[in-house]
Amino acid sequence: MSSLSPSRAPEKPFTPRRPPRPPQAWSYCQSTRELTIYDYAGQMSVYHVDVARSDCGCTYELVNVDARFGECRTVHVGDDRADDSCDCAGFCYREQCKHLTSCVELIRRGILPFVEKGGVR
Ligand SMILES: [Zn+2]
Repeated sequence: MSSLSPSRAPEKPFTPRRPPRPPQAWSYCQSTRELTIYDYAGQMSVYHVDVARSDCGCTYELVNVDARFGECRTVHVGDDRADDSCDCAGFCYREQCKHLTSCVELIRRGILPFVEKGGVR
């Protein structure tokens, strides 16, 4: 497995060309661990979510369980916002995406679990 190395460059490698387009809505079912996201165009995506600890935050494996079944997105929510990332093309271009936006918001509301740094000692 690849490890996430902290890369906090003081300068951004590029300037996003388009402003981020935030998702419209999202919900999470704690019993099925399914995350449903409606993107800016109103298109629905459903993901099964697995949560894992990492060195500087929490990593969420989002696996599509809808029409794009099996596609996986890895969303990292750091203890620091600068550590946030997603491996999708949207985040690559805009440094923001529906996966990260919805995960962060669901964590903030206490709906999605966030494993504390280092876990229980
Ligand atoms: Zn993403």
